[in-house]
Amino acid sequence: MTPMYTISKDSEGVILTCQDCPHIERVNVFHSSLGSQRTQAALAMFEHNRTAHHKDPMLAPLTKNYGRMEQW
Ligand SMILES: [Zn+2]
Repeated sequence: MTPMYTISKDSEGVILTCQDCPHIERVNVFHSSLGSQRTQAALAMFEHNRTAHHKDPMLAPLTKNYGRMEQW
């Protein structure tokens, strides 16, 4: 799967930049129950792509295979 974002990191946390627009997802608060900062940022960017760009690569063509998201 082609990444939908570029990932970088600074002293405050993880930054994901959308490749289709200037949108940025920054995660600088660590919630251990939700996984790593990178995982949280990736999920936020995934949601951005789904809502802003109507991209949903996780669902095509494996519409029923939601379990794969757990591997993030
Ligand atoms: Zn975007």
